Amino acid sequence: MILVTLFRGPMRLLFARGFVLTMLILAGGCRAGASRSTVPDRPNVLLVTIDTLRADHVGCYGYRDASTPTIDALARRGVRFETAVVHAPLTGPSHASILTGQIPVGHGFRNNSGFMLPPQVKTAAEDFRQAGYRTAAFVSGFPLDRRFGFNRGFEIYDDRLPKGNDRRRTPYVERFADATTDAALRWLGAASSARAPESRWFLWVHYYDPHAPYEPPADLAERYRQAPYDGEIAFVDRQLARLFGALDVTNETARTIILVTADHGESLGEHGEGTHGIFLYDATLRVPWVMAGPQIPAGRVSRTVARSIDVLPTLADYAGLARRSDVDGRSVRAAADGRPMSDAASYAESLYSELELGWAPLYAWRTAASKFIKAPHPELYDLDTDPSETRNRVGEQHARAADLSRTLEEVLLRTPAPVAAPPVDSETAERLRALGYVSGGRVSHAAGVAQRDPKDGIHLLPHLNRGMSAARTEPELAIRELTAVLAEDSSLLMARRTRAVAYAAAGRHDLAIADLRALENKGALTAEDAVVLGDNLRSAGRLEEAALVLERAARENPAFAQPVISLAEVRIQERKYDEGAALCERVLKLVPDHIEALRRLGDLALLREDLGTAAARYERIVALDANDASALTKLGVVRMRSGRSDLAMPLFRQAIEREPRNADALLYLAGALASGGRPADALPYFERALEAGPPSTMALNGLGLTRLAVGDTAGAAAAFRKSLQLDPTQPEIARTLAEMRRQAVEKQQPEC
Ligand SMILES: [Zn+2]
Repeated sequence: MILVTLFRGPMRLLFARGFVLTMLILAGGCRAGASRSTVPDRPNVLLVTIDTLRADHVGCYGYRDASTPTIDALARRGVRFETAVVHAPLTGPSHASILTGQIPVGHGFRNNSGFMLPPQVKTAAEDFRQAGYRTAAFVSGFPLDRRFGFNRGFEIYDDRLPKGNDRRRTPYVERFADATTDAALRWLGAASSARAPESRWFLWVHYYDPHAPYEPPADLAERYRQAPYDGEIAFVDRQLARLFGALDVTNETARTIILVTADHGESLGEHGEGTHGIFLYDATLRVPWVMAGPQIPAGRVSRTVARSIDVLPTLADYAGLARRSDVDGRSVRAAADGRPMSDAASYAESLYSELELGWAPLYAWRTAASKFIKAPHPELYDLDTDPSETRNRVGEQHARAADLSRTLEEVLLRTPAPVAAPPVDSETAERLRALGYVSGGRVSHAAGVAQRDPKDGIHLLPHLNRGMSAARTEPELAIRELTAVLAEDSSLLMARRTRAVAYAAAGRHDLAIADLRALENKGALTAEDAVVLGDNLRSAGRLEEAALVLERAARENPAFAQPVISLAEVRIQERKYDEGAALCERVLKLVPDHIEALRRLGDLALLREDLGTAAARYERIVALDANDASALTKLGVVRMRSGRSDLAMPLFRQAIEREPRNADALLYLAGALASGGRPADALPYFERALEAGPPSTMALNGLGLTRLAVGDTAGAAAAFRKSLQLDPTQPEIARTLAEMRRQAVEKQQPEC
């Protein structure tokens, strides 16, 4: 019968070269107290940094609504420092202090973007590796990408961030705590079976979840509906239980020093700041510091102030590593042992407001009892009587303020900046100068220009933050908020940068391009901005311009993979597949197992009918990220095309399980069922595919043919008509519709 032949034809098309090509181009366009005799000379060291974790939101720090049983248990079997402080409320600079033992003025990494850890500044990983330790790191946030130099000294540096399936989140900026823990556990498992019994390891695990947006997994989202930030913390704590539990399984707990701390806290609205990054109040500078392991007494709480720069010297002390003279911090082991230790003062800074917003930078000097903040309107707080820092005493305590200010100025002058400049190219240096900065890790503002005190501009921040969090989900709302911010302060770079992202999300690529070109004209286009610009130019069909922008970004930032992958997408869209593939291979040299490079290479192999290579690429992605619904789907397509629908269908079903609204997976499963002679089973999947994604002729034709096969002629005709509305140049569908009409007319006429 004509219908059966027709039916098999288009369904085969679904798995044929032409359709895969369309899908490829479409995809490119969218987007964890033993007896002394068992304690080895040297312990393993597990450093855990939890991003954006305020000390006073952890149970052992007195938070009543906390769900942090793992951290609390660690505190019970070890030492907790009541007051631990960081030196910058920013992920990159703060981690640089944790890993190098130097304050930002010393290590030179002053802001999340535009800086790289100078090569002459030694890191904890280098120290431990030099001492014969195996070293590995598993990080979860883009600010710790290897391009910023944090990978130095680590044999394994796993900074693979999944693309994510949530349109509301920027792709490749975050890996959730469960996935990071899985990766760390794989390494621990492999390391424990492969290594000699006397070998030791230094493992750093970084979790990013408590960082905004606060979107804990479903059960915790429900439980912490009023406080989703706490839900994210609870989720990380749950994963810490898995990580620490693995050490119990391999009998390594007794010989492992575990230190849990954070890079900064979160303001949660205090002082008018929603998140972190600008102010230097304890809301963002106070973090937890809990450690346990061999030679660490159980259940002690130390009142000695511990600082991020003390992490490296303290861990080195327990591991018996030689102390380096270039470290600013000190071991707090004596305090942990309950011996008297004086409080060390602490330096803090944030250049974020200057570098990202164009306002004055903030610097602070903190003693155990006081904090002085250098700003256009300076501040002085008595931390004993006013821990929330709400009463500025600079007017009433001149002498104290002057004294602390002098010490702070000495630190700013005395500590030499790194001799070598961070590896900025001439173009970046030119841009930094244009902004009033000199490159080389030191920042100096052009003399005589009054800068806005961040306190005076903070009222714009809620608008800016709303704009930033809505940029992808509700772009029109974000555009309104950011336009209002720019109306008051047109020099606010972050607002313009974010508005471009919102314009892009709204499909208004020309406006996005205009904002990014405005940043470029000010010399403020970062490498990340250049990628956004290139992607928008590509989406606007301006492929040559896109290629120019991305080629330049790739040239100027040779360690940065993103411009290269974006450029590959341009070449693929231009149907220059060999160039696209070569660019993807270049990305894999920069970042082994780069998911998107693997995906593109798989797609290109599929395109040239190289099913073996395509399968290998997609299988690698699934091995790296078992939740990658897109790779599961594509692997299913490969199996279909190898004649193995028995292997394909479970893959499509897995993809749908992980992403119930993945239109591709739904459509392919429908197609596989239909072409396997199971139209009734296929029908609901065609319907779900159409609900989940934009209408496509492929889905509509499949739906039509399937309805026809189950006897729903009217439904079939409706689907074919919609399909022809989308694309009138489908002679086969037009003929089918005509044939259906003719048969309907024949049925109505009596036989002659
Ligand atoms: Zn952070």
